[in-house]
Amino acid sequence: MGVVIGVDIGGTKIAAALVDESGRILSSVRLQTRTELGREFVFEQLKGAIGELMEGAKSFGEEVLAVGMGSPGVIDPASGVVIKAAVNLPQWQGISLKQLVEEHFGVKAFVDNDVNVMALGECMFGVAAGLQNIIFIAIGTGIGGGIVIGGKLYHGSRFTAGEVGHITVIPDGPKCPCGNYGCLEALASGPVIARRAEEYMAKGVKTSLRTIAGDGRVTCELVAKVASDGDVLCRRLFEEAGRYIGIAISSLMNAINPDCVVIGGGVAQAGELILSPIRDEVALRALSPVPILQSRFGDSAGQIGAAALAWFYLKAVA
Ligand SMILES: [Zn+2]
Repeated sequence: MGVVIGVDIGGTKIAAALVDESGRILSSVRLQTRTELGREFVFEQLKGAIGELMEGAKSFGEEVLAVGMGSPGVIDPASGVVIKAAVNLPQWQGISLKQLVEEHFGVKAFVDNDVNVMALGECMFGVAAGLQNIIFIAIGTGIGGGIVIGGKLYHGSRFTAGEVGHITVIPDGPKCPCGNYGCLEALASGPVIARRAEEYMAKGVKTSLRTIAGDGRVTCELVAKVASDGDVLCRRLFEEAGRYIGIAISSLMNAINPDCVVIGGGVAQAGELILSPIRDEVALRALSPVPILQSRFGDSAGQIGAAALAWFYLKAVA
C-alpha cells in the first residue's frame, strides 16, 4: 500500500508524520527549527525529521512513496523553489526544497505553501472531505488562507493566491505588518485579540481576565478560556474579531461561491466563540452563504496537509 511523509516546516519547529492513504498518522516527530543557527542547520533538522520517519516506516513494514512539505513563503510548486521566503524562515529564499529532499533521499518530493497544503488536507481528509471547492482560513499568529477549486489548489499567476489575511476590512484601520492599513490580519489574529483585551483592561473595563491573568501575559487562548466562562468583555473580543473575519469571508464567498469555508489555526480552537459571530456576519452579507466549518486537525493540520499534497500528486500520476 505504502505511506507518505508529511512535513510541516515552521519558524520554530519542524513537525513531520508518516501518513497513510486515509490521512491517518502512523507516527510523528518534532524537531526545533533553530533558524538562528543558519541554513545548513535547518537543512540538517529537515533531513533528520524525514530520515527518522523513513526508518520508522521500515518498522511498520511500509514503503515511503513520497515526501510532501508545507513551508511558509511564496512557493512555485512545479520547481519546489521558495520564490519569496517568509520573515520567520529567511534561509529558504531561492532554495528548491523539492530538489534538496529528492537528491538526499532518492524519493519523490513535493512542496507548497504551508496554509495551501492545509486547505488540500481538509479537502482530502478533513471536514471538507469529498468537496471540490473550498476556502481554508488559518487564524493564528497571522491569518493565511488556501483555495481549492475543482479538487486542486489554486495558486494564481504569481503563486500568491489565498492571502486572505491581507484583505482590507477597514480602509483606515490599524497598520498591518504587510504595510497596508486595516487588513484582516491586523484586526482579528490571535495576538490582536490578546492586545485588544489588554487595551480594554487598561481603560478599566470590568473583566475577570484581570484576576485570572494576574501578572502573566494575556494570550488569545486565555481570552478564549475566560470567554467560555461567560466573561462579557472576552466574549465581545471574539465577536469583534469574528465580525471582521465574517466580512472578509462574505466577499470571498461572493467571488468564489465555494462548497464550504473551513476555519483552522489556533484561534479556531475557540470554537463557537469565534464561529458563531462569523456565521452571523456572513448571513447578513454574503449573497449565497455556504457552511462554515471548524477544522478538526488542530496541531496536526500542517503535517496532514503536507501528506495530502504528496498523496494528491501520487494519485495524479497514477
Ligand atoms: Zn496586510
